[in-house]
Amino acid sequence: MHKNIAVIRGDGIGPEIVEQALNVLNRVAELYGHTFIYTDVDMGGCAIDKWGDPLPEAQLQKCLASDSVLLGAVGGPKWNDVPGHLRPEKGLLRLRAGMGVYSNNRPAKIWPQLADASPLKPSIVAEDIDFIIVRELIGGIYFGEHKTEKGTATDVLQYSEAEIERIGRIGFETAQKRGKKLCSVEKSNVLDSSRLWKKVMHRLAEEYPDVTLSDMLVDNCAMQIVKNPAQFDVIVTENMFGDILSDEASMITGSIGMIPSSSLGATACGLYEPIHGSAPDIAGKDMANPIGTILSAAMMLRYSFDMAAEADAIEKAVSAYLDAGYRTADIAGSGQTPVGCRACGQLIVNYLTKE
Ligand code: NAD
Repeated sequence: MHKNIAVIRGDGIGPEIVEQALNVLNRVAELYGHTFIYTDVDMGGCAIDKWGDPLPEAQLQKCLASDSVLLGAVGGPKWNDVPGHLRPEKGLLRLRAGMGVYSNNRPAKIWPQLADASPLKPSIVAEDIDFIIVRELIGGIYFGEHKTEKGTATDVLQYSEAEIERIGRIGFETAQKRGKKLCSVEKSNVLDSSRLWKKVMHRLAEEYPDVTLSDMLVDNCAMQIVKNPAQFDVIVTENMFGDILSDEASMITGSIGMIPSSSLGATACGLYEPIHGSAPDIAGKDMANPIGTILSAAMMLRYSFDMAAEADAIEKAVSAYLDAGYRTADIAGSGQTPVGCRACGQLIVNYLTKE
């Protein structure tokens, strides 16, 4: 297969971690006979320095013309004092809006080799914990009317059936590519928007008979994520609930450097990036953990390019690297000599095999 990938290296550790993800993609291309063409895109602080704009229109157009976008991270102290509309994060917001991505998808996986890093009890971590939260990204209370009048503040929570249906479909389709279990999380005992949410999810379930749908109230879900996270495969939920639950879920894995994410909209073209920022404190020191970006590339193969075997191969290579005991500084135990960012990427490339 032939795929065009827009590559945003960004700022801080961005260029270092993206380089390693591209090395992994290149090895996948060799093993499986694909061609990945990369187009460099300037976004964030580096684009401000070069173009005076965190995402010039021509750079956005390169992303829109691609089959998917791989992003490192943007921002850093150098650009703290630029005017608000020119901040590096504005580039990211413009990119998400331009691509029309309305779904943010974050896996929460506890790698057995890193179980000690989880704040959960060993008996809970011993289970196979590997789920994904599909969060509606551009609707709900964050996008409703906000006002404060005469000492009373109001925030409007509103969802249309169409908005619920399109995120619901991403939930069902994600479940189809995984363990075929979807848990719809809402607060239908109190909120009208949640009752509509539940109704739409059940209507959609008839179109996806291979996926088992369950319902859970958001307060119960917050408890279940720490009590019995192994029960989940895919969770689909609205914007604010998803914001809170996905942060809770990333905490139980214990390492910010390991977590990938995707943002999807109506087309197969997605935005793939690690959940962490540009880590200016370790930038340029060959210390960053590139695994969150490497696993983001694996998500791109699975969810945008329908290359499940290739995505599995990357995840197995990461597992083999961890099994062998290698750790970057962020997850190394005391007394252990960490490997650098480049060595980590090279080792994962070496462990890549075609089944
Ligand atoms: P951060 O995620 O960059 O760093 C938090 C801590 O985690 C730091 O100690 C850092 O060294 C460590 N860390 C993060 N990623 C790591 C990795 N891959 N390997 C090893 N250690 C890692 O968060 P921050 O310090 O709050 O933000 C720094 C900059 O990043 C800010 O300018 C912020 O606006 C920006 N940011 C960008 C994005 C993005 O591009 N999507 C997201 C969050 C923050």
